[in-house]
Amino acid sequence: MRFYQATRWIFPRSYQLRLFTLCFLAVHLPIIVFCVAEGVRGRWDWGIFLTLLAATLVGTCAAVAGLAALLAPIGYATDLLRTLQRGERVPNIPTGGEDLVGELLAGVARASNENAARISNLTDAAGKDMLTGLLNRRGFTDMAARTLRAGTNSAIALLDLDHFKSINDRFGHEEGDRVLTAFGRRLEEGLRRGDRAARWGGEEFAILMPATELDDATEIVERLRLLLRLDTAAAADRPPLTFSCGVTALQDYQSFTAAMARADEALYDAKRGGRDRVETRA
Ligand code: GH3
Ligand code: MG
Ligand code: MG
Repeated sequence: MRFYQATRWIFPRSYQLRLFTLCFLAVHLPIIVFCVAEGVRGRWDWGIFLTLLAATLVGTCAAVAGLAALLAPIGYATDLLRTLQRGERVPNIPTGGEDLVGELLAGVARASNENAARISNLTDAAGKDMLTGLLNRRGFTDMAARTLRAGTNSAIALLDLDHFKSINDRFGHEEGDRVLTAFGRRLEEGLRRGDRAARWGGEEFAILMPATELDDATEIVERLRLLLRLDTAAAADRPPLTFSCGVTALQDYQSFTAAMARADEALYDAKRGGRDRVETRA
């Protein structure tokens, strides 16, 4: 480190040029010593001088080209690190030998993999609801954008647990959390393979049923509603858990926001109509 610091004044902004300078001086040392020695002795041998000069030129070119080639992977690794620092993905990293450059490239590859894993975990976490493990509003919206195919009839349902506040009031917030988690699990278990459920917020849940006609979607949530009623009827200390639901159809992601608004209106109708029911809006 001391030599590196002491030679920083030679091309302070270019490590490569500093190495080339040192290499240039080292290669020229024999011819310089020859010139000094000939001067001291007061004679001049052109034959030896021209041979030395030619060898020096060839040596200089070979050394500079060789150094540049050996430094290339270090420059490449530095570029990759800059890319990583910007949070971008890096292309496949070449493996080096069992030397300093190999270790450097392996280190960059490790950092790159860790970075990719961290970004993937953060992306997953950003789209998930911490309490139920279902998708959250953001995850659901992203998933809908990926899943909905233009021109295919699909359906969306918005569910809201009935009188949920009274569960919190009677049994405490923690029990309320447990009920929400259990409901989320039940929802996932009760859906078909291609359907996806999410916690839309609070005690509201959303379901996307891709490639499903509105009638079929209504039937699916009706079945869920009856099952939930049946499953929770056994608890003696409380009334069965019920939900109200609005279902609507949509054809593509462009109409997602409008469809959610329609499902919300249908849900409102279900609440007004007495709760524990499913309303449909085309
Ligand atoms: P409604 O049938 O009209 O939907 O009645 P409700 O009581 O379900 O609706 P309201 O909007 O009055 O209350 C919703 C309740 O949901 C109030 C709020 O404290 C509770 N809640 C929302 N998020 C959570 C949560 O993460 N955990 C718990 N335990 N409760 C929550
Ligand atoms: Mg609500
Ligand atoms: Mg509610």
